[in-house]
Amino acid sequence: STPKLTEIGTKSKVTFNDIAGLKEAKTEVMEVVDFLKNPEDYTRLGAKIPKGVLLVGPPGTGKTLMAKAVAGEAQVPFFSMSGSEFVEMFVGVGASRVRDLFKKAKAKAPSIIFIDEIDAVGRSRGKINAFQANDERESTLNQLLTELDGFGDNTGVIVLAATNRPDVLDKALLRPGRFDRHIYLELPNQTERAEIFKVHIRSLKLSKNVDIEVLAKLSPGFSGADIANICNEAALIAARQKKDEVEQEDFMAARDRVIVGMERKSKIISPEE
Ligand code: ATP
Repeated sequence: STPKLTEIGTKSKVTFNDIAGLKEAKTEVMEVVDFLKNPEDYTRLGAKIPKGVLLVGPPGTGKTLMAKAVAGEAQVPFFSMSGSEFVEMFVGVGASRVRDLFKKAKAKAPSIIFIDEIDAVGRSRGKINAFQANDERESTLNQLLTELDGFGDNTGVIVLAATNRPDVLDKALLRPGRFDRHIYLELPNQTERAEIFKVHIRSLKLSKNVDIEVLAKLSPGFSGADIANICNEAALIAARQKKDEVEQEDFMAARDRVIVGMERKSKIISPEE
């Protein structure tokens, strides 16, 4: 995927209202929101507030959305970085970017740091192929570990990281005091898919013939991102035909397109098939 630009301390407008399904994960991240909003409730009893939380789940299940919602709900600044950014960097740059990121987040505490695709830097040492920039990745990973250990307990910075490959992560990252809490985001079931459709049709002008239950039933295996994509694609299809409303057939056509896209993607990922 293309590296995202680092967001520096932006205010997130995402709230839990923008996230459908994922009930358990939401309950767990609500705890993180409470740590950020009411730290003294915990520290007065001598509790150490967790520093690192790993969001684990397949692509498009809402990991980034969840991290932004934590920042939005707690009304704290959101600092983010994508693990894949580091891999492409010149030697020494990755580590200093990590240092910089933590410094800025600490200055604005309470705050959230979000590291997307942490597996790109956090892959277990030795499991990487020879063509990748090993040294750079390793020094970035070491800096990340140093930062996690270096900032004291209860500094008001919580680091959220996302991965769809928890199995490849270096065990050092998962030790107590680092990313020791894991929150799982699963692909939505039919009921949850209907809920996700409902979130994404809020902004559309819909025909009465649109049947969300049917759409949810006909999209097994789709992620939240796929559903968001269908909704927008359906509106584009309707607009192209100068319709006044988005109709069921537009959603069906959009669904077919998304399926074609998914098939292409899976061919790229597993060319042997
Ligand atoms: P990746 O692993 O590919 O980075 P991700 O798990 O971080 O994906 P997001 O980037 O958060 O997924 O999701 C992409 C978009 O899909 C969101 O911005 C949102 O529009 C939609 N989406 C995903 N999950 C949900 C959900 N549970 N409810 C509502 N919208 C969702």
